[in-house]
Amino acid sequence: MSREDYEVVIGLEVHCELSTKTKIFCSCPTEFGGEPNTHCCPVCMAMPGTLPVLNEKVVEYAVKAGLATNCKIARNSKNDRKNYFYPDLPKSYQISQYDMPLCYEGSVEIEDENGEKKTIRITRIHIEEDAGKLNHDEYGRGSFVDLNRAGVPLIEVVSEPDIRSAEEAETYLRKLKSIFEYIQISDCKMQEGSLRADVNVSVRKKGSNEFGTRTEMKNMNSFRSIVRAIKYEADRQVEEIERGNTITQETLRWDDISGKTFPMRDKEDAQDYRYFPDPDLVAIKLSDEYIENIKKELPELPEVKKARYIEDFELSQKAANFVTSSKYYSDIFDIATEKSHNPKAVSNWLMSDVARILNEKEEEADKIPFTGEQLGELVELIDKGTISNSIGKKVLDELFENPKAPSKIIEEKGWIQISDEGAIKEVVLKVLQNNPQSVADYKGGKDKAIGFLVGQAMKETKGKANPQMLNKMFIDEIKNM
Ligand code: ADP
Ligand code: ZN
Ligand code: MG
Repeated sequence: MSREDYEVVIGLEVHCELSTKTKIFCSCPTEFGGEPNTHCCPVCMAMPGTLPVLNEKVVEYAVKAGLATNCKIARNSKNDRKNYFYPDLPKSYQISQYDMPLCYEGSVEIEDENGEKKTIRITRIHIEEDAGKLNHDEYGRGSFVDLNRAGVPLIEVVSEPDIRSAEEAETYLRKLKSIFEYIQISDCKMQEGSLRADVNVSVRKKGSNEFGTRTEMKNMNSFRSIVRAIKYEADRQVEEIERGNTITQETLRWDDISGKTFPMRDKEDAQDYRYFPDPDLVAIKLSDEYIENIKKELPELPEVKKARYIEDFELSQKAANFVTSSKYYSDIFDIATEKSHNPKAVSNWLMSDVARILNEKEEEADKIPFTGEQLGELVELIDKGTISNSIGKKVLDELFENPKAPSKIIEEKGWIQISDEGAIKEVVLKVLQNNPQSVADYKGGKDKAIGFLVGQAMKETKGKANPQMLNKMFIDEIKNM
């Protein structure tokens, strides 16, 4: 049998840091970074005798996440202690939720490139606290513990093993990310670790009803490595099985440099954690009214926004899909469209050049340095004929490097389009004189020759001439020749 006879089965456990102002069980700030151990207090440093108090905002944000992913919301739930030792976990237990999660039985709809829809079921969403961070000293003096992150609230979103390819896993994760951005419960910055996924992978023969043994890669925080890791791991498992070996259920480490997975430790079972209800915290009871009120506050979700963009702005399915794939895109889109009144052009810039540049930089939409206002002005300047499309691309490059008003950029760089008839005519005559063959071609019926001449004139003016004017003037001038 070969690789093609197997299918891959994937389930994701996604951790998302909530952007509440304060931590989950104390009033320390959740802010990323800061000098080590400056965002801490006796509670999150686990001093004896301290008591946790649940931050109500955390419950609210988690319920929002649950409602936005079609989950049922538990009227009764509780916090449990998950016991394990690690130096970044000063209490030696993590306060999490075990058998009574806040949200359960949800789903997210994803769509592939061909518009084919598929539902990924969500098993549960629970709340828990993040651990601190270990900084391993580069001079070998040891490891330093930074507890700034200890107690930062997380939700963990556990999917059913419904995902069947690396691409589907990426699409599902992007969808979750965009939903959480829209409901503003997290900044979802993967590079800063506010969104990270444990990726569970198994393979089985196509047509089989039973799942194979899975391995798990923890804390993955880039789409690119998740896709690579799943592909590598699925191939590795098939190879092992084909050789007659069995797969061990274990936790693996993905190494981005070698592009391989390595065993880290055996998989632990729930019983290894000796879960029990945290006696320091009261049970969480939610009323119907409380849940209804949160439901009312939910903003427009990406699916609804997408439909509206198609309806109101006549965007294509593909464009609407792209623009709503991230709140960072759609916020820019909204403002740029309001300014330029040209939604199609705005979506084209985002989809083609902006996405390409981000891709080259290996960055996501949250790293776009310019504003919607600035992109809107760029579109306006092109529409008014102040600059050509090709100058527009150069302005966009500038917006990425040194964002400021596009009108300022073109003024400083001297990129204003030449629309002065006299100046254009001068160039046209010069180009005609230097290219008699093209003139003859055009007269002989080769319409394409005009394109070549316009190109030459653009070269001559470093892209600053108005292309429509050039086009018209070449035709007129040749007629008069
Ligand atoms: P834990 O990893 O904490 O023990 P679970 O047993 O609930 O938790 O499983 C975690 C994840 O593993 C879920 O997202 C689930 O969909 C996925 N999963 C379970 N079985 C498989 C399998 N055979 N192949 C791939 N993923 C699986
Ligand atoms: Zn604290
Ligand atoms: Mg797991």
